[in-house]
Amino acid sequence: MRKYEFWFVVGSQFLYGPETLAIVDARAKEMAEELSKVLPYPLVYKVTAKTNKEIKDVVKEANFRDECAGIITWCHTFSPSKMWIDGLRDLQKPWLHFATQYNKEIPNDEIDMDFMNLNQAAHGDREHGFIGARLRKPRKIVAGYWKDEKIHKRIGDWMKAAVGAAFSKDLKVMRFGDNMREVAVTEGDKVETQIKLGWQVNTWAVGDLVKEMGKVTEAEIDALVAEYEAAYDIATDNTAAIRYQAREEIAMKKMMDREGCMAFSNTFQDLYGMEQLPGLASQHLMAQGYGYGGEGDWKVSAMTAILKAMGENGNGASAFMEDYTYHLVEGQEYSLGAHMLEVCPSLAADKPRIETHHLGIGMNEKDPARLVFEGKAGPAIVASLIDMGGRLRLIVQDIEAVKPIMPMPNLPVARVMWRAMPDLTTGVECWITAGGAHHTVLSYDVSAEMLRDWARMMDIEFVHITKDTTPEKLEEELLVKDLIWKLK
Ligand code: MN
Repeated sequence: MRKYEFWFVVGSQFLYGPETLAIVDARAKEMAEELSKVLPYPLVYKVTAKTNKEIKDVVKEANFRDECAGIITWCHTFSPSKMWIDGLRDLQKPWLHFATQYNKEIPNDEIDMDFMNLNQAAHGDREHGFIGARLRKPRKIVAGYWKDEKIHKRIGDWMKAAVGAAFSKDLKVMRFGDNMREVAVTEGDKVETQIKLGWQVNTWAVGDLVKEMGKVTEAEIDALVAEYEAAYDIATDNTAAIRYQAREEIAMKKMMDREGCMAFSNTFQDLYGMEQLPGLASQHLMAQGYGYGGEGDWKVSAMTAILKAMGENGNGASAFMEDYTYHLVEGQEYSLGAHMLEVCPSLAADKPRIETHHLGIGMNEKDPARLVFEGKAGPAIVASLIDMGGRLRLIVQDIEAVKPIMPMPNLPVARVMWRAMPDLTTGVECWITAGGAHHTVLSYDVSAEMLRDWARMMDIEFVHITKDTTPEKLEEELLVKDLIWKLK
């Protein structure tokens, strides 16, 4: 993810004379340099724009350059917005309008009309805001002092969302097998998804994977098992199962890397020629940033990869998750999330254990090895992308993960326990009203605001279930959005 950068474009005009413009230019340079030290991606100062052509030129270059993941604009002085129309209309990269000011305070003694002419962001940014609204151009607006840490966090989060957008547009998903038979929510229009989100979703034969597994050498398996031993506690004597998972992981990784895929899906219904459903193999691939979806769920697989890319250091604490069962005891109402095997260890509170257990579902000839752990406590979100027919809807719910309130010694999978907002049962009613899937991406480090930004960049519907959501309000919101998205 380090390859990305953002461009700083400052608005002005010739009216103020060369001395003022020189000060604006020097300050813009200083701000970009200082902000680059505290933001997750570099902010590169490009130009103090005074003409239609300068704006058009910088936008053309931003659209063309792969490393440019978005532009940040600001108007130190007044910048008449008609000269921004052509450039902003053609802009294809995410845009953040930073309504800030070089000085923090109004300097009581110093302030005079020269100061007023130089420091006009308060009205310059309003002119700039008008043209964004008039063009109906999707943009993020962040207002505040440029040295404020809270502002750095908000701009940094938007940058991560923009990197998620760039990552999405390049994403390829490798499918082994189709969706689980008869399941509706894991289906979707792959053509529409590629148009909107950029994903190339294609299928490869399980037989080809089995062939690839046959070519994996014992030395390659030894090396990967050594990695497992370093990262996890081995809590099984079944070395053969661990080695079989290593073989599966190496083969899947080779196939994905060869095709440039950063996400994959498989299904327990199609394991032809394989002894075990990949468990540990899928989990360790997720730990390396690959997205995964079970039962052929390519949407959740791609979203897992994207949220990971948006997270800390380009591989955050996000994972494929499934709502399994509830604890409905009054005062301790929780969801228990897990999957039959495949939960990413980036969620783990402690060092995961490798265990082998019988798996009754699917065509497993042998007991699959898997990582078993408890998820971390703390605020988090769950996200689900569904196909509404003609459009995509991203549903995000705020949750509070807790240390599981019981040890569940006979549950042989990784598990996370959480309280959905606003409370478990109202949260479930809201989720079901919106049509959210049983499969989600659970994330500790991607916020709902980041996903709202991402949805705006991708031009898809966004629904957020918070501590303040009621089923009544949500129902109305969904009715209105349904109409709006039909007209769009
Ligand atoms: Mn599932």
